[in-house]
Amino acid sequence: MTKEWRARPFVPQRLVVAREFRGMGKRELARMHFPVAGYESGKTVPDRSEIVRLSMVLGFPPGWFTKPWDPKLDGFEGTFHLCESHVWCDEDDGCGERAVAQCDYPLAGGGTCDKNICAGHGKRVGANRDYCDSHLAKHRQAEPERSDAHTPSEKSLG
Ligand SMILES: [Zn+2]
Ligand SMILES: [Zn+2]
Repeated sequence: MTKEWRARPFVPQRLVVAREFRGMGKRELARMHFPVAGYESGKTVPDRSEIVRLSMVLGFPPGWFTKPWDPKLDGFEGTFHLCESHVWCDEDDGCGERAVAQCDYPLAGGGTCDKNICAGHGKRVGANRDYCDSHLAKHRQAEPERSDAHTPSEKSLG
């Protein structure tokens, strides 16, 4: 599965779930000039900018609307795992995945980056230390991958 939400097709069921989660009727969205009936039936496919507009109106990340439907996780009961305190991944302008960590990269002015990252974005770089994608790249530049963990210590020259 590609991580980039823009590369994935629109999933009509995701719009239904997001709309119902917000308690919005189709008419409400139609009033905002969304051809919502067409989107939900799959007859009309929103383009990327339209998906961003939907994401702003419904408060879901853009990637949510292109996240492949999983019948096991996303059946009727599956929608209950959504709640107001759900924290979304900030990578890829909202990849649609749930965040599992915050970036711990230290900022110059103090504090840390705090970008929310999902399991597929960013990486754990140490005990309780996770970096977002861009800070991971910076980190690697500053400290090139050390693969010498298993090499025996150098023999002192006699
Ligand atoms: Zn993500
Ligand atoms: Zn970061």
